[in-house]
Amino acid sequence: MAEKGAHLTGTVYIRPSIFEIIAQESLASTLEPAFKKIFSFLVSFNPERYGYILEWVDEGYLIFNVLLQRYYLRKYSASFSETFYGLKRVTVVNSKLQEELSHKQQILSLILIVILPYLKNKLMQLNSKYKLQEINGCTLRERRQQLFRKCVIKGHSILFITYETLMLYNYILYVSEKSMYPSLLLRLLSVTLTYADPQSALTISELLRKIKYNSFTVDDGWNIFQRIVTGSLELGAFFLQFLSWWSQENYDMDIMSLPVPPPPKVSKVAQQYKGICPLCRKPHHIHTVLMISGYVFCYQCILSEIRIKKKCPITHYPAKEDDLIRLYIE
Ligand SMILES: [Zn+2]
Repeated sequence: MAEKGAHLTGTVYIRPSIFEIIAQESLASTLEPAFKKIFSFLVSFNPERYGYILEWVDEGYLIFNVLLQRYYLRKYSASFSETFYGLKRVTVVNSKLQEELSHKQQILSLILIVILPYLKNKLMQLNSKYKLQEINGCTLRERRQQLFRKCVIKGHSILFITYETLMLYNYILYVSEKSMYPSLLLRLLSVTLTYADPQSALTISELLRKIKYNSFTVDDGWNIFQRIVTGSLELGAFFLQFLSWWSQENYDMDIMSLPVPPPPKVSKVAQQYKGICPLCRKPHHIHTVLMISGYVFCYQCILSEIRIKKKCPITHYPAKEDDLIRLYIE
């Protein structure tokens, strides 16, 4: 395999600009919220029946992301968002570039692209849950649990600040051409990014000729199927980028938005609970609103209800502890 061992000299390596690096990172970070939005939109058709799936949305995204990134790493030697911006990963050995990623680097790439953001997200969720508990003055029975809670809150902020500072330092090194690694994680892998070669794809005239002469194979069919799936994902990603740019640019001048409809009439059920907690039927003790239904309860009443039943006691919409908002109206 002579071509696999071929070295790329320093002159062939074209350094992608910092804008492309940051753009692909921002695309990668919009994938997860988009996936979750679509997921909760589908569940909203029948929340009573499929509401429990929402609890597993992080794991659902993990599986989707593993499959997606594995496919792109194998086929284009880059993550989905890197491929979208025409970039690919190449190995650096003794400050020289080599074409192919080793098998180990592919697996480590997959872990860093997929598992690390998942763990980061879980730590963030745990941190905000513990912070909320502290704010509400929830004391834990065991000393060990209390110590663990403190460690998570402190550890999260230290980790976050360190990581962000190192990222910034790395960007500065990259821009000033002192380092060839555009990100910290790529540095760990001894891998850098460069422009990918244009992909040769089956054109429509070739396809028609193949069908005419009956030389259309299963491989061609598979190839077209892959292109349709990845093409629609990439088109979706483009719209995602466009929408996030649009909402940033026009947050106060939204031409597309429809006139705001009048507020709905308060239902009879809701009128029944005016000024009292629907659970204990007494005046509220620490007003807390459940975001997904808008009903106001006592903090302790709704907290224990949500922990056990994981849904709104009145509307039965699926709900989590994160959906509770404390109101300061006393
Ligand atoms: Zn109550």
